[in-house]
Amino acid sequence: MLRDDHKAATLKLLYVCLMGAGLVITVQPQPAPPSIYSLGQAAGTLALTAIAVQLVLASRWRILERGVGLDRIMRWHSANAKFIALFVLLHPLLLFLRQLLKGDIMAPYTMYGTDILGGVIGAVIIGIIWISVLKRKQLGLLYERWRLVHLLTYLLVAIGLSHSLLLGSDIKSGRPLYTWWLLLAAVSVAAVVYRYVVRRITFAGSEYEVVANKLETHDVHTITLRPTDGTVLGHESGQFAFLTFTSEDLPVEEHPFTIASAPGGDTISFSIKESGDFTALLGKVERRDMAHVEGPYGVFSNRSMPGPFVLIAGGIGITPLMSMLRAMHKEGDTQPQTLLLYANRTQGDIAFLGELAAIERGSDWLRVVHVLSKETVEGMRHGFVDGLVLSDEIEELTAPTYFICGPPPMMDALRTTLAELGVPDDQVVTERFAL
Ligand SMILES: Cc1cc2nc3c(=O)[nH]c(=O)nc-3n(C[C@H](O)[C@H](O)[C@H](O)COP(=O)(O)OP(=O)(O)OC[C@H]3O[C@@H](n4cnc5c(N)ncnc54)[C@H](O)[C@@H]3O)c2cc1C
Repeated sequence: MLRDDHKAATLKLLYVCLMGAGLVITVQPQPAPPSIYSLGQAAGTLALTAIAVQLVLASRWRILERGVGLDRIMRWHSANAKFIALFVLLHPLLLFLRQLLKGDIMAPYTMYGTDILGGVIGAVIIGIIWISVLKRKQLGLLYERWRLVHLLTYLLVAIGLSHSLLLGSDIKSGRPLYTWWLLLAAVSVAAVVYRYVVRRITFAGSEYEVVANKLETHDVHTITLRPTDGTVLGHESGQFAFLTFTSEDLPVEEHPFTIASAPGGDTISFSIKESGDFTALLGKVERRDMAHVEGPYGVFSNRSMPGPFVLIAGGIGITPLMSMLRAMHKEGDTQPQTLLLYANRTQGDIAFLGELAAIERGSDWLRVVHVLSKETVEGMRHGFVDGLVLSDEIEELTAPTYFICGPPPMMDALRTTLAELGVPDDQVVTERFAL
């Protein structure tokens, strides 16, 4: 089992301790209750602390990710961003509350002159990043451009650190706070160095050559890769990797895709649906094109779990489940009872139809049920994977572990339905194709 919920809980506790330490170091225990002004200073320290944590969360640090999952880390990243915005807002509000309440909105400038500019620029950058996060779809911002806007965070760190050092009299004078400031600066630099230098050196050997590009359905390509040095990355079924093609016809962009093949082969394969500007170009990938593979990441795996399993896939969400089924098939006949509920719009959208039928025919542990929403086909169910389908197809609903991967609305609805059917939450494992 790849998931480590204790580690996730420990990391959350560590976060609370870090923020608590930032607060205590700034306000420092004193007999009198802390003043509003010192709480404003603390908000500044907490903003900087959360920004340093943000860089660590974005660094794809393996020790951090292992057992927790990059998707969960990225969810924390989003939650932490809200704290950053809150503390950045509270910082000037609390520092100048008394003057602001008197209507003196120029107080920060009167007190600090143009030195306050760094703080203003930092706040504007946070505003820009927030608008790009909240309004990406409405602004029609391509993911890659959005990523570029996001990189402004690095500038924010530099501005935040110099702003606090220049203006924070408490930082310059107070030893513990100055040490804290140095620590944050060191953590931020280490996170950036890890993300852009160490990670690249560590994965320098992960170059692969395209050996096949097969059309699986009308819009799903299976691309098979062989490592140039003969060593395939060691992955578990269900994990994913970041793939970058260095083909003349494709932009050099890194995208996350699940390794759909079973572990242990001398090649790896990815099955990718045309769903946007980059994936629409995958038909142009040719044999002997090169690709860089970074991974594996993720904890969506049934490895070493006892079963029985119910695997529920929506469309291209089949890839991690396909990897699990291929691995189980490869391992032999004595596998836990497994039901695959596979939802698609039409029969023509079903990837791996023949291969799934062959695994099912050749084993006594797998049963496959296809569910089509836009077509009626004999031998397949019509509609959606809902409470009725689950109750019909699963004898003892609370016995299996459920692995679900598909469009977010489908996964949310299924989580609710399974809870209503009495399935404990820890028996439901989901994977979102979004970081
Ligand atoms: C863990 C994981 C596993 C995945 N496995 C598969 C798979 O096996 N098969 C498959 O077809 N798809 C998979 N995806 C989805 C795949 O990454 C996106 O469909 C693809 O990146 C879309 O790129 P695009 O430019 O064509 O589409 P766009 O329309 O530009 O993007 C669609 C969405 O994909 C995400 N995305 C786009 N570019 C990137 C990027 N460079 N890095 C991270 N996210 C990005 C964003 O959320 C974006 O909103 C997976 C995603 C994740 C997170």
